[in-house]
Amino acid sequence: QCIHWCPSGAISEREDIDQVAKALADPKITVVVQTAPATRIGLGEEFGLPVGTNVQGKQVAALRKLGFDVIFDTNFAADLTIMEEGTELVKRITGELHHPLPQFTSCCPGWVKFVEYYYPELLPNLSSAKSPQQMAGALVKTYFAEKNHVEPQKIFSVAIMPCTAKKFECQRPEMISAQTYWQDEQVSPDVDVVLTTRELARMIKRAGIDLPSLPDEEYDQLMGVATGAGAIFGTTGGVMEAAVRSAYYLVTGEQPPAALWQLTPVRGMEGVKEAAVSIPGAGEIRIAVISGLDNARAIMEQVKAGNSPWTFIEVMACPGGCQYGGGQPRSSAPPSDGVRNTRAASLYKIDAQAKLRNSHDNPQIKQVYAEFLTAPLSEKAEELLHTHYISRAEEFDAKKPQSHEYEV
Ligand code: SF4
Repeated sequence: QCIHWCPSGAISEREDIDQVAKALADPKITVVVQTAPATRIGLGEEFGLPVGTNVQGKQVAALRKLGFDVIFDTNFAADLTIMEEGTELVKRITGELHHPLPQFTSCCPGWVKFVEYYYPELLPNLSSAKSPQQMAGALVKTYFAEKNHVEPQKIFSVAIMPCTAKKFECQRPEMISAQTYWQDEQVSPDVDVVLTTRELARMIKRAGIDLPSLPDEEYDQLMGVATGAGAIFGTTGGVMEAAVRSAYYLVTGEQPPAALWQLTPVRGMEGVKEAAVSIPGAGEIRIAVISGLDNARAIMEQVKAGNSPWTFIEVMACPGGCQYGGGQPRSSAPPSDGVRNTRAASLYKIDAQAKLRNSHDNPQIKQVYAEFLTAPLSEKAEELLHTHYISRAEEFDAKKPQSHEYEV
């Protein structure tokens, strides 16, 4: 079933609400849901609230009313991504890992596919860390299942995302770590279904729930606590800012200076932003933040030519990052930098008001390493939280129109 959101009807979005409703109606199934950083500052717009309103607690309350059994925060997994990706970056810099620099972020499936299509020779530059969505999914069917004595075959894992590309990501054949972990083909993919923010809004409306009037509720524990660093994943530059905070800690063993809690040069809606950060013991790290794939090409050509000055590059396919992703509300907020800046400001406010600002300070992150994963890049972390990429250049060439198709 498709729902059209493009005014001409030329572009359509797959709707997966029925699959989720079926799982919710089955008492034998434990339905676990996670919510991305950016959905909480978009969902309210579907219910008439001002652009950028943070409805985190109301979103949790609505999901409970809809019947979801366990509600986790993808922001927790964003903190975990930082631990894995930040450790990987430090090891590339020190030479412990023989992977090339600059390291590219890898949490945007649109960007990953762009590299697979157009720059397969630069795949080794992509961080092997999975996106927060996929890390959370892998842990739900392993760590959560083990701790709570839930059969992994009976878990249905849902992700609420601001993004239509995430529907593709969860179906990648590599994203079955829990199945491999349990050596059981009855275990379904780590994330069974992705619903966009708009699809969740539709579910809430169809159930007759009045989101704005709901009292705030809390996420479930184990994977329900996040830092400000996890929250800013939802806007362009946020992954970089979060990574730099923890990279500083991983190299020096000390907390990052306050200046790294507001890395102004990588904030804002410009398509290309740059900064340099000095970390004692690692020297100067030059970073670049790209949003919008058009802006990525020039940077990639520089990297390909071997004259890139950067150590770490964040790329997000959507202009402004996930807060303006393809699954976010549209009708109340036609595209503009004003809307993007307002939504981003809401995410920065969550960060500024958070009790904890650094991913490495998250107590539930410390807990998951102590109880389950051991350490970043451990054997188990590699198995569950990291992946590999494939060249799709041939697939792309095969899809390209052949010259005879233009003949008239
Ligand atoms: Fe999805 Fe866009 Fe975010 Fe990439 S930037 S993960 S395509 S919403």
